[in-house]
Amino acid sequence: MDTHGPIDIEPGHSVVFLTGAGISAESGIRTFRDARGLWEEHRVEEVASPEGFAADPALVWRFYAQRRAQALTVAPNPAHHALADLERTLGPERFFLATQNVDHLHEAGGSKDVVHMHGELFRTRCSDEDCPTLPFHDERHDFPTLPRCSCGALQRPHIVWFGEIPFEMHTIKRRVQACDLFVTVGSSGVVYPAAGLVREMLYRQEQGERVRSVYVGLERPENANAFDAVILGKAGEVLPGLFRVLGA
Ligand code: NAD
Ligand code: ZN
Repeated sequence: MDTHGPIDIEPGHSVVFLTGAGISAESGIRTFRDARGLWEEHRVEEVASPEGFAADPALVWRFYAQRRAQALTVAPNPAHHALADLERTLGPERFFLATQNVDHLHEAGGSKDVVHMHGELFRTRCSDEDCPTLPFHDERHDFPTLPRCSCGALQRPHIVWFGEIPFEMHTIKRRVQACDLFVTVGSSGVVYPAAGLVREMLYRQEQGERVRSVYVGLERPENANAFDAVILGKAGEVLPGLFRVLGA
C-alpha cells in the first residue's frame, strides 16, 4: 500500500477506528508513554487499579478530579474533527469508532457515536457492583469529602482500571470482524485486549478476505508487525485528508 497517498474507501465498504492517547496529545493531554510509566507523577497501580482505589480512594479521586479539571480546559484537534467528518460522510453502518481514551474530545470534535472501551472521565458510578444506580454524567472536580452513592457505598470514576474488563468488547470485535478497513491511531499497542484487535484482521486475511489494517501515530507501536501499513506522523497532521471516500 502506498502510505503517502490517500487511502480509498470503496462504495459500500466500512471502516473501524481504534484510537488511543496519541490522538489527544496535540490537544494537550499527556499520553501514558510520555510519562514513562507514571501517570501525571503517580504510579498507575496507585491511581488506576481497583486495589489502588481500595487502598486510598481519596488519592484516586484527587487524581481523577485533576484529570477532569484539565480535560475541561482542552479542545479537540484536527484529528478528532477528521474522524467526525468521516462519520458524517459514511454514516453509522459504515463507520465505527472505539476509543481507549477517557476524555470527551471525540464528542467535542463532533463525533456522534463513540464507544469508550476504557470508560469516561466525566462519568461516575457506584463502587458496589450490585447497586442498581446507573453511571451518571459528572463534571465535579472538587471533592471536600469522598462522594457516596445513596446506597452508602463510595462512588468511583466510571473508568476501566488495570485488571478490569473493557466495555463493549463484544460489539467492538463484531464490528472489526465485519469491516473492510481497520485503522488504529496513536496507541502504543501494549494495553490488551485493545492491542489484539488488529489480529482479527490478520486472521481474516489468512482466510482469504481482502481486508486492510493501517496504523497512524508518531512511532511504531509494539504490535506494528500486525498492520499492513504504518504511517508515521502526528494524528492531527496525517488524518485530515488521509481518506478518500469513493462514490460519495
Ligand atoms: P499510550 O500512551 O500507551 O500510547 C500513546 C501512543 O501515541 C504512543 O505510541 C505515541 O507514539 C503516540 N503519539 C503521541 N503523540 C502522538 C500524536 N500527536 N499523534 C499520533 N500519535 C501520537 O496510549 P494507549 O495506547 O492509548 O494506552 C494507554 C492507556 O492509558 C489507555 O488505556 C488509555 O485509556 C489511558 N490513557 C488515556 C488518556 C486519554 O483519555 N486522553 C491519556 C493517557 C492514558
Ligand atoms: Zn450504590
